[in-house]
Amino acid sequence: MSTGTERIECRTAEVGDGLIIRRALPNRRRRTVGAWCFFDHAGPVAVSAGGLHVGPHPHIGLQTFTWMIEGAVTHRDSLGNEQLITPGQVNIMTAGAGIAHSEDSADGPGAAPRLHAAQLWIALPDAERHRAPAFRNHPQLPRLELGGFGVRVLAGSVAGRASPVEVYSPLMAADLSAGAAAAAELPLTAAFEHAALVLEGAAEVAGEALLPGTLLYLAPGRAQLAITCQAAARLLVIGGVPFAEEVLLWWNFVARNAEEMAAATDDWNAGRRFGAVHGSPSAPLRAPALSGLNLRA
Ligand code: MN
Repeated sequence: MSTGTERIECRTAEVGDGLIIRRALPNRRRRTVGAWCFFDHAGPVAVSAGGLHVGPHPHIGLQTFTWMIEGAVTHRDSLGNEQLITPGQVNIMTAGAGIAHSEDSADGPGAAPRLHAAQLWIALPDAERHRAPAFRNHPQLPRLELGGFGVRVLAGSVAGRASPVEVYSPLMAADLSAGAAAAAELPLTAAFEHAALVLEGAAEVAGEALLPGTLLYLAPGRAQLAITCQAAARLLVIGGVPFAEEVLLWWNFVARNAEEMAAATDDWNAGRRFGAVHGSPSAPLRAPALSGLNLRA
């Protein structure tokens, strides 16, 4: 393996009502890549198998970032937003001090037959983590061509093209897709650490052959990244300044200590703080008993 890279195997996990996903972050070797602290890859999978159904549940201290590749999912939240996210769009939800939301694959006649998406969390830095909650759908994201790849700038900047997605620490995310063999040098910010995950097909990143299910971690110090594929492929590259703060992840919360976790858990289960989500066909989730707070992977 080349210097400064680590191959990290994803584990499988179940989200919502039986959807099996690949979880790239957190893992035992890497808790975060920049402020990215959670990285799930869902599908591609037939929605007839159930799709995504996650009933109302709370978040604190993070942003949820959803990148939709195939399918359609309805987001509903306690601010009163109801938003269908479709392919090529990003949903960014800033939980801050507290928000609740639900996510349900759209069904019925004309519904998309497959689901393919990535959902990530971004840890909010201490100065921003108690801010007011917010939600936004971004249907338009910058796109550039690079060595046969279409590059969609999902967060931060690539080659001077900036995503409108609002974030609170220096970070980036880009989706690269090619319909045939391609070879690109993706410009990077050298102060960032990065990670690459193949979403479809096969690719070679920094000389490492990758398939879906293996995250390639790249240490800071790279100004560009060699990415090639021999046939149609898609991958996601994320990065950011290494996150200096110790964060605690438990259930759907990002916090700094057990007291904050206990308060958020009690508030959700008692119907306080987060507000109500209306219209979801899925039942609300109950926060489990607080335990294993040192279990962050
Ligand atoms: Mn959520």
